Amino acid sequence: MSAQLIDGRFLAQSIKDALAQQIAKLPQQPRLDIVLVGHDEASEIYVRNKIKAADQIGLKTVLHLFDETVSEEELLQAIEAMNNDKMVNGIIVQLPLPANLDMHRIINKIDPCKDVDGFHPYNTGMLQNNQNPYFIAATPLGIMQLIKTVCPNLSGKNVVIIGASLIVGRPLATLLLNQECTVTITHIHTKNIKELTRRADIVVAACGVANLVKADWIKDGAILIDVGINRLQGKICGDIDFADVQDIASAITPVPGGVGPMTIAILLQNTVTAYNLQNKSEK
Ligand code: NAD
Repeated sequence: MSAQLIDGRFLAQSIKDALAQQIAKLPQQPRLDIVLVGHDEASEIYVRNKIKAADQIGLKTVLHLFDETVSEEELLQAIEAMNNDKMVNGIIVQLPLPANLDMHRIINKIDPCKDVDGFHPYNTGMLQNNQNPYFIAATPLGIMQLIKTVCPNLSGKNVVIIGASLIVGRPLATLLLNQECTVTITHIHTKNIKELTRRADIVVAACGVANLVKADWIKDGAILIDVGINRLQGKICGDIDFADVQDIASAITPVPGGVGPMTIAILLQNTVTAYNLQNKSEK
C-alpha cells in the first residue's frame, strides 16, 4: 500500500486564504520587517518566498538588507528602532547569520511581542513551561498541524525526531511532549538512530542529510515528516528517501510541498497575531 501524501501546500493555502480575509477587514495592513545579512543564496530564496506569500495575502513587508561586514552594534540599533516603531508588527532575522555575528545577542534584542519567529528566550521559555508564549516557531508549529491531519490524537504516541536544532528539533520536541507524546530527540552523536526510529509511530527528519532515512529505518504504518531541504544533483530532496519508504509508511510529507509551505503560512499567521496583540486596546 502506498503512503497517504500529507499535502502541506493545500493546508498552507487554506491558512493563507483565511488570513487574506482577516487582513482585508483590518483598518491597516499588518507589517513584517525582515532583516537579511549578507548574500547566502538559500536565505535570499527563502526571504523572496516569504515576501511573495505576504504580498499575496495583503500583508506588508519591509526588507532591511545589510552587508556581511555590518557590525553587531549596527544590527542591534536597527532592531531597537524596529522595536520602537509602532508601524512594525513583526520582526524576523533570517538565519544563518555570518559567523562573526552573535546570533543569540541579535535575536534576544527583538521585542518578544514582535518576535514572530518565536526564537526569543521569552517565547521559547514559555513554550518549555507549557504556558502561553506570544509566538511559537513556524516550522515546528506547522509540523504539528500537518501531523494532526493524519493523527488527531497524539497522546501516548512514540515520536523520534532526527535533529536537535534550536529552530526545529527542540521546540518540536516540546510541542509534542505538551501533547503527551513520548519523544526521543536524536542528533549527529546519537548511536544507532535506526534502532530508535524503527520503534517510532512518528518520525520527523530535520537534519539536512539527503535521503538519510531508508525503508529499514521505519516500522510499518509509521507517519513520516520530512523537514529537510537538500540539493542533490540539481534537484530538491528531503532527509527521507521518499521512493524507498512510501510503501511502508502510512503517511508522508513530500519535499517540496510539505513542511516548507506551512512554515511560511504560519509565519504570516504569527504576524497577523502580532498585529492583533498590539492593537488589542484600540479595538
Ligand atoms: P541545523 O544544522 O541547525 O541542525 C541539524 C541537526 O541535525 C543537528 O542537531 C545535528 O546534530 C543533526 N544531524 C546532522 N546530521 C545528522 C545525522 N547524520 N544523523 C542525525 N542527526 C544529524 O539544521 P536546521 O536548521 O534544523 O535544518 C535542518 C534541515 O531542515 C535542513 O535541511 C534545513 O534546510 C531544513 N529546514 C527546513 C525548513 C522548512 O520550512 N522546510 C525550516 C527549517 C529548516
